[in-house]
Amino acid sequence: REQLPLPQQARIFTISNQKGGVGKTTTAVNLAAALARAGARVLVIDLDPQGNASTALGVEHRSDMQSVYEVLVNDLPLAEVVHPSTEHERLFCVPATIHLAGAEIELVSLVAREQRLRRALDAYLANVDEPFQYVFIDCPPSLGLLTINAFVAAREVLIPIQCEYYALEGLSQLLSNIDLIQKHLNNDLRLSTILLTMYDSRTNLAQQVAQEVREHFPEQTLETIIPRSVRVSEAPSYGQSVISYDYSSTGSLSYREAAAELARRGEETRGD
Ligand code: ADP
Ligand code: MG
Repeated sequence: REQLPLPQQARIFTISNQKGGVGKTTTAVNLAAALARAGARVLVIDLDPQGNASTALGVEHRSDMQSVYEVLVNDLPLAEVVHPSTEHERLFCVPATIHLAGAEIELVSLVAREQRLRRALDAYLANVDEPFQYVFIDCPPSLGLLTINAFVAAREVLIPIQCEYYALEGLSQLLSNIDLIQKHLNNDLRLSTILLTMYDSRTNLAQQVAQEVREHFPEQTLETIIPRSVRVSEAPSYGQSVISYDYSSTGSLSYREAAAELARRGEETRGD
């Protein structure tokens, strides 16, 4: 098992793309699993009412349970809803429940409505017994207040881009939103990482999309590309990452490589 360099401070990523089905949750879960295996303590915050990240990490999210919803709306301390995952002893998850769907509306009338996740997360990370090295916030497919809370809580944005039709559509809107957040709500936020997902090397289209993304974002786009793979899509129904579901599969290998790149790039860019 490979050991990766660990950041001195927690790196907080929001995994965002207002499109659904582009691989946000899959990326959050599998990068988190890979980094935990490589020695990091990792927290996944599920901010999508569907709770897919919670499911994939084997963490219950029934509607009668407390979740990130109570943290956002009722000021519940985050520590109360951090659960161990079944995936790895160093991997933890804050589940989402379906109540989160209402939070988009309920947050509107609350004080500091954009800062609520940031405050809860900063307080938690400052007081936790053993420090975390990575936090991944899995966003819903929208640019509403939940996603804004994620942008304000994070320092780095990771955008998964599906190598398919219309891959770049909507990207400029996402980028201008990140700019607005950076100007007005979170100076520290930067688009650090783009990950190409669901790549099918047999199609010209996938190659064109990958090339176009690299031209626009040469610094941010990871070398590693995640291929389309049945094993990746099967893993969540077993409450597992693809890495524990089928360690030697191409999907597992590529997410482990992407995680290693993420960790090394963090080292290179530290301090700027
Ligand atoms: P999002 O969170 O952006 O909505 P998901 O991560 O849930 O997207 O992925 C959408 C669907 O595509 C899921 O069914 C998932 O299992 C599948 N999927 C994601 N990545 C891959 C991949 N590399 N190969 C095959 N299927 C994938
Ligand atoms: Mg999702």
